[in-house]
Amino acid sequence: MNREYDVLIVGAGAAGLYAALQFPENVRVLLLSKRELTLSNSSLAQGGVAAVLDRDNDNFKLHIADTLIAGKYKNDLNAIKILVEEGPKDVLKLKEMGVAFDLDKDGHLMMTLEAGHSRHRIVHHKDSTGRAIVDTLIEQVKTHKNVEILDNTLLYKLENNGRGFDAGMILPNGSSDVVSAHYCILASGGIGRVYQYTTNSAIATGDGITLAHMLGAKIKHLSWIQFHPTAFAAENDRERFLISEAVRGEGAVLLNCDGERFASKYDERGELAPRDVVSNAIMLESRAKGNEKFYLDITHKDPEFVKNRFPMIYEKCLEENIDITKQWIPVFPCQHYLMGGIDVDIYARTSVSRLYAAGECSHTGVHGANRLASNSLLEALVFSRRAANDITEKLKTENNAPFETEPEKDDLSGSKMPHGFRTEIRKIVQDCHFVIPKPENVAAGLKRTNEILDNIVNGGYEINQDFVEARSLATVAAIILKEVSENNDT
Ligand SMILES: Cc1cc2nc3c(=O)[nH]c(=O)nc-3n(C[C@H](O)[C@H](O)[C@H](O)COP(=O)(O)OP(=O)(O)OC[C@H]3O[C@@H](n4cnc5c(N)ncnc54)[C@H](O)[C@@H]3O)c2cc1C
Repeated sequence: MNREYDVLIVGAGAAGLYAALQFPENVRVLLLSKRELTLSNSSLAQGGVAAVLDRDNDNFKLHIADTLIAGKYKNDLNAIKILVEEGPKDVLKLKEMGVAFDLDKDGHLMMTLEAGHSRHRIVHHKDSTGRAIVDTLIEQVKTHKNVEILDNTLLYKLENNGRGFDAGMILPNGSSDVVSAHYCILASGGIGRVYQYTTNSAIATGDGITLAHMLGAKIKHLSWIQFHPTAFAAENDRERFLISEAVRGEGAVLLNCDGERFASKYDERGELAPRDVVSNAIMLESRAKGNEKFYLDITHKDPEFVKNRFPMIYEKCLEENIDITKQWIPVFPCQHYLMGGIDVDIYARTSVSRLYAAGECSHTGVHGANRLASNSLLEALVFSRRAANDITEKLKTENNAPFETEPEKDDLSGSKMPHGFRTEIRKIVQDCHFVIPKPENVAAGLKRTNEILDNIVNGGYEINQDFVEARSLATVAAIILKEVSENNDT
């Protein structure tokens, strides 16, 4: 490891990996992933990437309109235009790099429909698109000699050193180190783990958002959370397996505990309404019926088609003793995606000089109050590329002479943090701010969250992964609940 870098990228999901690929050979990049490289929300993405690639049947205006409608017109139109108009080139670039998107018999990209889209525009690799993208990007990054990759390495500190940042890391052997970088791109993903039940991977604890907040960066709309209507309703698993939107796109219907279709009672678009609408419909129907059992039914489709189109979902459900070609799939809403985050401009610049953010940890404004399905991988690609290009231009003109002093290592020792903070935070957030929020719980929830945060930060505890993630969850929870309590989330 070097003592200093031009750019530090925190995160090896779609945003971090794609950013790393944009830098020319003379730019020294350090790429961090706190766990193994393939553990990220990006790897879990099933449905695909939305892009206007079939210009005979689709156009930018339609994709922009669909994004605005899903986002309740609370989106940033300029950012959407960039997303929609530049995105197709990034998707084609992935194909060129070797991502095996599904092709039709003539070799053209196959495009599916997802809820909220008015056209078939989702390119996919079966039902494991994210993993196909991540695997290809990792292969590509490994061929770039200017990019040093450190996996199982956790960023616990990011401090402004006047001409960039000092970054404190816990290395795989548990020891710590501090390096300097002139620029930093936070691509550290979402916050799903602040909920009891989420589709997000274990890394989604909001570390990047917390470190940006500690640096004074503007954080926006952190209470704008997307709940996915159809996660597999396992009994206790914190990480809930997603039954992709594409399953409804291919004709699956949603049934209540009596086996009746109900979605169109709440919205004329029925099962293909945007996620928040379908999640709300499920919660309202559950209140009406006094029962939380819901199902997706795709048994009317040809079993071979179902197995071939959704091999991962088919296998995962089989592991839970559900054969989706013959049986209904038990589903219920759970936390899925963060629309808000570290506020950035159209070059992914945060309000802190030299600090950038891209992907799920950022707030570009493209999603408004509700993300349109399959727009997030696209956002991760488009805005991480823009961040990298902006930094590359700056590095050409700015005098980024070596740092004069090396940062000192931190002493991470301390007492052991008590168990239970994370579990308590999750319960508080789940009780206050799930699909249909409960404002009456928020004041007490915020008070207790602040007590926990204060205890974590001032308790003199050992700095390790547990500490860092608990600090992040408490920080994120406090920001969400404060925003909700001030009704400042519009
Ligand atoms: C189940 C599921 C299905 C989805 N399906 C789709 C879909 O079909 N289409 C779509 O567009 N979107 C989908 N999404 C959303 C999409 O996958 C994510 O929004 C997007 O991939 C986020 O990418 P990212 O690069 O921002 O973050 P991630 O892919 O989550 O990567 C975050 C990275 O940051 C690293 N990191 C975090 N904290 C630290 C730290 N302290 N130190 C070092 N490293 C750190 C992690 O190790 C990881 O490498 C889905 C999400 C889920 C959970």
